[in-house]
Amino acid sequence: MNKPKLNPGDTLVLASHNKGKIDEFKTLLAPFNLNILTSSSLDISDVEETGKSFKENSILKVNSIPNNYITISDDSGLCVTSLNDEPGIYSARFAKKNGGWNNSMRLIYEDIINRGERNFEAKFFCSLSIRFPNSPVYTYDGEVFGHITWPPRGKNGFGYDPFFIPLNGEKTFGELEHKKKIKIDHRSVALNKLIKSHLDDS
Ligand code: IMP
Repeated sequence: MNKPKLNPGDTLVLASHNKGKIDEFKTLLAPFNLNILTSSSLDISDVEETGKSFKENSILKVNSIPNNYITISDDSGLCVTSLNDEPGIYSARFAKKNGGWNNSMRLIYEDIINRGERNFEAKFFCSLSIRFPNSPVYTYDGEVFGHITWPPRGKNGFGYDPFFIPLNGEKTFGELEHKKKIKIDHRSVALNKLIKSHLDDS
């Protein structure tokens, strides 16, 4: 069966309150001439992330928006190999609980060291869901591999960006220009799959 398509002029809701993510999606979707709304423009609050995986949480978020809208949502996070892929789906909650990004980056780094580990490999992971009215939810995954570094560097981006260096790079996501980071990150990998299925006519 053909997958449902987005067309120029369609309204698309981003089910998110995260300014960093919203800015990334708006920039990446700009060429498609969509009318972009967000959860706050519809006065819809954040949904509780009770899922056990990125995919389950992204589906919970997409379903927080009324079914008459075309909606996308992502659930994403930082997975550190030597911490059994933590904080993973708890990335946002870990930062909230520990007083913000800087403190939580320090705690993650110290946790690795205290375990006697020298493996700083990590990845950002994203599950991106799209739901059209009266249609099943489609989910696309994206990841970007690299390692974490201490101390954090750079003022660009959001969240754990100053802490993460992508594979074969030298600059952290916090040091990379915004437009460069968003072309290579986990969200853009997942979004490109979604674009291929639901936006390209090719
Ligand atoms: P959630 O998907 O709303 O649960 O939140 C994802 C959390 O993962 C964010 O609040 C950040 O902590 C982290 N995160 C996800 N994507 C990125 C990114 O591109 N850069 C930095 N941190 C990110």
